[in-house]
Amino acid sequence: MPIRYLFLDMNAFFASCEQQRDPKLRGRPVAVIPTRAETTSCIAASYEAKAFGVKTGTPVWEARRMCPGLVCVEADHKRYVVTHNRILDALGSVLPVDRVMSIDEMSCRLTGDERRPERAAALAHRIKRAIYERAGDQMHCSIGVGPNVTLAKMAADMKKPNGLTVLGDGDVPQSLYGLALRDFPGIGPRMERRLNLFGVFSVQQLCGLSVRALSEVWGSKVLGGRWHRTLRGEDVLEPPGRRQTVSHSHVLPPDLRTDAGAYGILVRLTHKAAARMRKIDYWAGAVSVGLSFIDEPAAGGGWGRGGWAVGCRLQHCQDTLTILRAVARLWDARPRGRVPFKVGMVLSELRPARSSTPSLFEADRRAAEASKAMDAVNAEFGASVIHLGAMTGYETGAPNRIAFTQIPDFDRRVS
Ligand SMILES: [Mg+2]
Repeated sequence: MPIRYLFLDMNAFFASCEQQRDPKLRGRPVAVIPTRAETTSCIAASYEAKAFGVKTGTPVWEARRMCPGLVCVEADHKRYVVTHNRILDALGSVLPVDRVMSIDEMSCRLTGDERRPERAAALAHRIKRAIYERAGDQMHCSIGVGPNVTLAKMAADMKKPNGLTVLGDGDVPQSLYGLALRDFPGIGPRMERRLNLFGVFSVQQLCGLSVRALSEVWGSKVLGGRWHRTLRGEDVLEPPGRRQTVSHSHVLPPDLRTDAGAYGILVRLTHKAAARMRKIDYWAGAVSVGLSFIDEPAAGGGWGRGGWAVGCRLQHCQDTLTILRAVARLWDARPRGRVPFKVGMVLSELRPARSSTPSLFEADRRAAEASKAMDAVNAEFGASVIHLGAMTGYETGAPNRIAFTQIPDFDRRVS
């Protein structure tokens, strides 16, 4: 199986951010905690603290007992998001980012020559250097390279901290045998017990199961087939499941193939995507924007090798203005001096409103209400009667037939 993916996992991310901020914390056991109270639990632990058994979820009082010199630091989520964005930039400076799984995990696709193990390893070292340069010398990561995202992630987990593992041809599945069943994403305590009931106690046994046996274990032919292919290193795409993204993209008409034209359309797409998301009552936790250029227009979806895409996390929100501010910040980092061909944006990490906590900040709440009022007027009088200033002149630039009514349930990347 060729290697197709590179997976990046930051080591003890929140704790490393704190050690980066304060040199006095370096080399010391650090626990990041949500609030100053002995009854809360650690949300992250530095490697020095992990050595004493402290981990995410350990109650603070217990962590102090396990690790006498423990320094507890209150979480600073803004700092973590800023650092996340720097890491994303660093990664994006080496390879186009394919997916952002969480604040400290992201993956890239490898193509052509990049699939040679030594070339992939060289890229991984470049990524590590770029992260040290842009986010700081305390920001270590583990990188895994493998034939599909799951196995690349497993590879990243094999060496921590600061590891690099390449699962190339002939490494799968033997190299997985040293892992525990629970190391696989998707195998929790319940699934492990179920596997045990079927006589499976090791990864080697798991890899030896037929599609039929795997289907029986998972209670689904689809899942059984998926696990069978995943374990053999096939490029298994994520199943369409919960709604994960709302996205819009638009090929620019010739007269708008300018920097200003592309931005005007991007604002329009953002306006539409945000309204669409509110209509289905979801909140977004991340946004990304992408561009392709006239000299290298992407074939089909995505942005192609010559394209550009970048994203950032959001505090879960629903209002156009907050999303638009993030889009504007991302747009600032666009490559200049090239003729844009297609522009697009994606709202991701979507959560149904019922499981989101509305912001406690009055300003955020007002922004969400203003957006809803805007939707109500636009529903009554036409989609762009009320819109944002930056959109003026581009109100009709990306007509609704462009994907407004069809929201793909699953987007592998900005498309
Ligand atoms: Mg991590």
